[in-house]
Amino acid sequence: MTEDLSREIFGNLDDSSQKIFYALAFISCAIFTWGIWRRVKLWQRGRPDSQRIDWRAVFHNLCTRALAQRSLRATRPKASFAHRMLFWGFLALFIGTILVGIEHYGASIIGKKATEPLFHKGVYFVIYEITLDTFGLLMIGGAVWFALRRMRGDSSMEHRTADWLVLSSIIVLGVTGYLIEGLRIIREATPMPGISFVGYGCSKVFSSAGVNQGNVSSIHFGLWWFHSIIAFGFIAALPFCRLAHAIAAVFSLASSPRPLGQMEPVTMEEVEETGEIGVARLEQFTRSDLLRLDACVSCGRCEDMCPAHEAEKPLSPRSLVQDLRGHMEASSPGPLHGETIDAQTLWACTTCNACNDICPLGVRPADYITDLRRHLIGEGELRGAPAASLQKMQRAGNPWGLPAQDRLTWAKGLNVPTVQDNPGFDVLYWVGCSAAYDRRTMKVARAVAQLLQRAQVNFAVLGPEERCSGESARRMGDEFLFQELAAANIETFTRHNVKKIVTHCPHCLNSLWQDYPQFDGHYEVVHHTQFLGELVTAGKLKAATVMNENVTYHDPCYLARVNGITDAPRNLLPDNLKEMPRHGCQTACCGAGGGRMWFDDSATERIGSGRITEAFNTGAKTVAVSCPFCLTMMTDGIAAKDETVEVRDIAELMADENALKNSDAI
Ligand code: SF4
Ligand code: SF4
Repeated sequence: MTEDLSREIFGNLDDSSQKIFYALAFISCAIFTWGIWRRVKLWQRGRPDSQRIDWRAVFHNLCTRALAQRSLRATRPKASFAHRMLFWGFLALFIGTILVGIEHYGASIIGKKATEPLFHKGVYFVIYEITLDTFGLLMIGGAVWFALRRMRGDSSMEHRTADWLVLSSIIVLGVTGYLIEGLRIIREATPMPGISFVGYGCSKVFSSAGVNQGNVSSIHFGLWWFHSIIAFGFIAALPFCRLAHAIAAVFSLASSPRPLGQMEPVTMEEVEETGEIGVARLEQFTRSDLLRLDACVSCGRCEDMCPAHEAEKPLSPRSLVQDLRGHMEASSPGPLHGETIDAQTLWACTTCNACNDICPLGVRPADYITDLRRHLIGEGELRGAPAASLQKMQRAGNPWGLPAQDRLTWAKGLNVPTVQDNPGFDVLYWVGCSAAYDRRTMKVARAVAQLLQRAQVNFAVLGPEERCSGESARRMGDEFLFQELAAANIETFTRHNVKKIVTHCPHCLNSLWQDYPQFDGHYEVVHHTQFLGELVTAGKLKAATVMNENVTYHDPCYLARVNGITDAPRNLLPDNLKEMPRHGCQTACCGAGGGRMWFDDSATERIGSGRITEAFNTGAKTVAVSCPFCLTMMTDGIAAKDETVEVRDIAELMADENALKNSDAI
């Protein structure tokens, strides 16, 4: 019986109506193409991308990030759910319309009559009708949810008239589609009308309202044209309204994102060619950078996550992206620096990567910031304490500007082997500048070294041969200072045959693991919590399990969000850990990343003050950390609130557990 099931395409429309339909379809598609072409011309103002296209990755990203909408994260679960409904519903109806077009065009090519379907029949037709009726409901449901949210004023998006028109067009298209289906069921006396279950319901309503074979054709004809004209207007308007993001986002999401924490290197040849470093003008962004500006839908998710915005610094990643977009669109824009983007906005960023990570459309606000910072550094526009820290890195190889000979002060009395003392070491313990020169962090290095000694690990340190990893120099925009420091360290690693590095600093870890391979420095790099965890598993050390007071743990951005290391620290901490609301990969920044460590904000002005409150509100008496910058920021911030709460690195807690006296000698 199902073999006979089908429907006439363009039923109730004569030849001239069909010709007008195709003429309007052509016009709307032409306007659509022109609109897209205008955007493409804007994107082409950028420099070509250096990355080669990996088509397999493109296909994978297209399926997972764009079609399956996996890029929508757990934040705002209701909005994400509604977006999926709207997107999948719209996509299904779009595909359904294309299939009808193929059926009609294919049938006309081989000379079949409209009443003799090519493939739009039988079981296929049953599945088609049920699927499209279901997805149509999803589309309308999603659009209604967004409209209601706007009406309630809950939406964090800007309220533009065009957005209302878009949402109402989607709802009208969905509803009129069902009404036309109901009228068609009456007009054609379709067998098994229940497969188009929503349309069938509409037909019942129409019948009870007096629609019958005598008047159905004229109502169907009028409504069909109303629906078609709205659809053509919608297609033509698409590149000119917020929905344009759907097109740019497909490309943005399909491209392979650079791993969080990785930056594009600048070569000396590029600088010699252009005479500039970083981005001074819009054209110096890549084409995909410019395309991503169009993908931004101004949803504000990045702004919600931004610690600088939370601390009321003059930075909103959403506004930054929208300002850049406005600059791209302007017919005669002013200067990019100073007029479109203020230097204070750029220096407020901690490069915590929360914005890059959360953006559902693959926009990377922090990458624009670091590119723009490179220009400011190149022009010598950074002043004060952070500029001095860069000069000290250049002059002395560390941001404190202290002598390299002092790098082993922390190890006094511990008999820690250097690479000269123990050239056959298995593991290099990378101490970092903070533990080398900051008296509080020295205790962390002592704890780590003592734990390694207790577990009889064959390790060594570089001592005076170690130089700053250059991580904060790179994120502040001083690319060539970073490259100079990296080259010096890589040369030292090569000389001492370094294969495996353990470090307690997530910033150094990120640089050694993600930045150095760009300059042929390839090493196995692990965080001390990972390495100590292996020693605990091997029964060589005890985790910090016995504690009388409650503990909370602050995930460092560059350990958790950027490098995904969240379990290793927790495995070393007591079971009664009190998690902060923002934890794991969704952690909140302490305020020290991206070179902000070297800015001389007072404790109350610091970016991580919200995080301090969060830690404090857990009621924990110990805040465990696993990063020297977090240790400094959290210690200062918490001390200002309650001196009975202590901030300690996990290695220090483990040293207590393993009865090691780590802090006495320095
Ligand atoms: S950059 Fe991404 S997260 Fe931020 S407003 Fe735009 S679309 Fe939303
Ligand atoms: S990286 Fe962090 S601080 Fe910088 S703009 Fe993004 S969310 Fe804000």
